[in-house]
Amino acid sequence: MRAVTLPYGRQCVDDDDVAAVTETLRSAWLTTGPKVEQFEQALAARTGTAFAVAVSNGTAALHAAMYGLGIGESDEVIVPAITFAATANCVAFLGGKPVFADVDPDTLLIDPASVESRITPRTKAVIAVDYAGQSCDYDVLAALTSSRGLALADDACHAIGGSYRGRPVGSLAAVNTFSFHPVKHVTSGEGGAITTDNPQLAQRMRTFRNHGITTDHRQREAKGSWFYEMVDLGFNYRLTDIQCALGISQLPKLPAWIRRRQAIARRYDEAFDHMPAVRPLAVRPEVSHAYHLYVIRLELDRLRVDRAAVFSALRAEGIGVNVHYIPVHLHPYYRRTFGTAPGDCPVAEAAYERILSLPIFPAMTDEDADDVIRAVGKVTEAYAR
Ligand SMILES: *Cc1c(COP(=O)(O)O)cnc(C)c1O
Repeated sequence: MRAVTLPYGRQCVDDDDVAAVTETLRSAWLTTGPKVEQFEQALAARTGTAFAVAVSNGTAALHAAMYGLGIGESDEVIVPAITFAATANCVAFLGGKPVFADVDPDTLLIDPASVESRITPRTKAVIAVDYAGQSCDYDVLAALTSSRGLALADDACHAIGGSYRGRPVGSLAAVNTFSFHPVKHVTSGEGGAITTDNPQLAQRMRTFRNHGITTDHRQREAKGSWFYEMVDLGFNYRLTDIQCALGISQLPKLPAWIRRRQAIARRYDEAFDHMPAVRPLAVRPEVSHAYHLYVIRLELDRLRVDRAAVFSALRAEGIGVNVHYIPVHLHPYYRRTFGTAPGDCPVAEAAYERILSLPIFPAMTDEDADDVIRAVGKVTEAYAR
């Protein structure tokens, strides 16, 4: 048993990150300044895209992406049932209807066949989610959506630094969204971004994050002009220079952090190979997995207890396990507002009963990982049928 609980995720902030933030605090620009552009350029370069638009969090990124695609009243957008609620909420923000597709039982990624079955004349877009850090099958999804004139978005909040068939995450869909919350790979405290190769889309999203106004404060200062026009209803979704300075300092460390996450995952994989009640999610060979999460499925017919009992026993061992996610269509808001119900996505619902996320973050030591492995072995053996 660990004296201090090992969390499922935690940020890495070093002295150079602190120095970068401090320097920006002493500069002329705390927001809408040069650090924003610098962070956007670094993100675009890292994801192999033409444009990145920095926003205040991952949810704002999704909202801006859906606005950019022109989603509005009575439009339907297909999203996976297993994701963070914000993936679906961003459609509802704009008056649209999120429609839940089921997931693949082995990867818990959106199932293209289920997507196809949900398409109606009102469908405008599909949001794929690179769940746990593994990219969806974008070749199949791109063929499916483009042949029907639908837009494809990637909620890549789990997957920065990963790739699909050698193509970097962030370049896999028309719009791709990121979060820089502290549990994610790279943090700016709170923060988010959208990447795209489409200049009109990038411009629409920049306007949206700034109240629907076409120019920002720095652009007007540079021109010596006071004039601006609000062309649409937008939000204040700006990311500050203070936050961007942290993001700029963090981003170059991403490749080493991904390698560390992959090494911890390999250590888990090897250990769980010998535990019949524990089954990690499948990993497809064409993907370089970013491992935001390491998710196991419990073989419940080999156990005398349910997932909740295993969860509590692991927490009692000092292992900060978590559950990602309650299927979104089961939340009261969705049931009440969109009439969703149990049975809509049976694969997701069955998976939800048996999944657990284990601790994984770059600062974890091999000894930390071995504590997790020992605790999972101890608990599943004690509850073995
Ligand atoms: C974290 C996350 C978000 C939301 O990001 P915030 O920065 O917390 O708003 C959206 N989608 C997924 C899949 C996420 O993991």
